Amino acid sequence: MALIVQKYGGTSVADLKRIRNVAQRVKNTREAGHDVVVVVSARSGVTNRLVSDAHSLHPEPNEREMDMLLTVGEQETIALTAIALHSIGVPAVSRTGAQAGIHTDFAHTRARIVKVTAGDIREQLAQGNVVIVAGFQGVNQHNQITTFGRGGSDLSAIALAASLKADNCQICTDVDGVFTADPRIVGNARKISQISYDEMLELASLGSKVMQSRAVEFAKKFDVEFEVCSSFNNQPGTNVKKEATSMEEVVVRGAAVDKEQVKIVVSQVHDQPGTAAKVFQTLADAKINVDMIVQNIGHGGVANLTFSAPLEDAYRAEKAVGEILDNMGGGKVIAVDRIAKLSVVGVGMRTHCGVAAKLFTALAEAGINIQLISTSEIKISVAIDADKADEGLRLAHDAFELEKNTA
Ligand code: ADP
Ligand code: ASP
Ligand code: MG
Repeated sequence: MALIVQKYGGTSVADLKRIRNVAQRVKNTREAGHDVVVVVSARSGVTNRLVSDAHSLHPEPNEREMDMLLTVGEQETIALTAIALHSIGVPAVSRTGAQAGIHTDFAHTRARIVKVTAGDIREQLAQGNVVIVAGFQGVNQHNQITTFGRGGSDLSAIALAASLKADNCQICTDVDGVFTADPRIVGNARKISQISYDEMLELASLGSKVMQSRAVEFAKKFDVEFEVCSSFNNQPGTNVKKEATSMEEVVVRGAAVDKEQVKIVVSQVHDQPGTAAKVFQTLADAKINVDMIVQNIGHGGVANLTFSAPLEDAYRAEKAVGEILDNMGGGKVIAVDRIAKLSVVGVGMRTHCGVAAKLFTALAEAGINIQLISTSEIKISVAIDADKADEGLRLAHDAFELEKNTA
């Protein structure tokens, strides 16, 4: 008998028919002799609707109240899933994040997990119950509800699997696994059978929303192997696990595009030691995640600094940099343009060369201009025009023949 954690995302529990489908899958798993802990998200569209309601009432809603509001979505689903299980004769109990002992820090709307006790889950399993836990939420030391950022139910599942030392953790979703690129954009994308934590982490942080990046980070830290699979069929999905030497044989595992990025140009800043430090310290203090950076060669004592940032932080970034420029003796924020960040990822890049050249050539041949570049050991990212995002992703996929990836 194994202990299996199964997470079902928003589309998998979108309506009553799908909740019944989830209940039946859980029943099948139990009948195969396993204990099951189920983590569910809010039904698709619910969290977005709640966010938009709050913003209709206030431009910057209070973060504690946002957590109070958004966690309603998951709580609806745990109760409905428990009731659906009861209706087919499976004993089940629902638990909120707090009842499941998921303890977090104080950062409302983006809390970090500090400890998972799992509450009474083990006892409930021992009594023969399926336990259904509300994803995306925890509780802080002041007994306040917190949430983990969008897509955070993935993190709940991984953290519970780690705490319960589950034999298996399945992230069940509306696609058959992790693909070489978003299958909704690239028609011939292929399902990847196995991928390392680092590759999955890069893809997730670079725009593949199939997994929340913080969940992958957690899985890597605690070495929680997991499988991304479909809620609608029983095909094997994608195993996400520690890197194996054989993984380096594939140069590019996947490609991703992040359409929610902006490029910010700060012009005419003093070309002297400390300028970049001040600008980027200001952005760091504002907790803005800057990625691609270019500083051009200065002329006449001044230079330009260009960087990319998440679209949602554009206004704060512009404001924060604008405020320090006067103290720095001049300069101005001259442009904030929406861009797309296109990336290719693979641990094989460490041992193969020519990856950048191939990507740049594919884009050049299609007349797509590269505005910024950044690289790490296992990824190359370029900023391109926002309206070329999908085309760029398809070109990158073709250039590396990812449709032929069989590993
Ligand atoms: P859930 O609601 O189950 O958490 P998400 O919508 O968060 O599901 O994630 C699944 C979606 O991720 C898919 O529908 C797909 O469009 C998108 N996606 C983006 N990149 C990839 C990829 N490389 N492989 C698979 N799906 C991807
Ligand atoms: N319901 C939350 C969201 O929409 C969490 C999740 O789905 O994982 O972001
Ligand atoms: Mg998700």
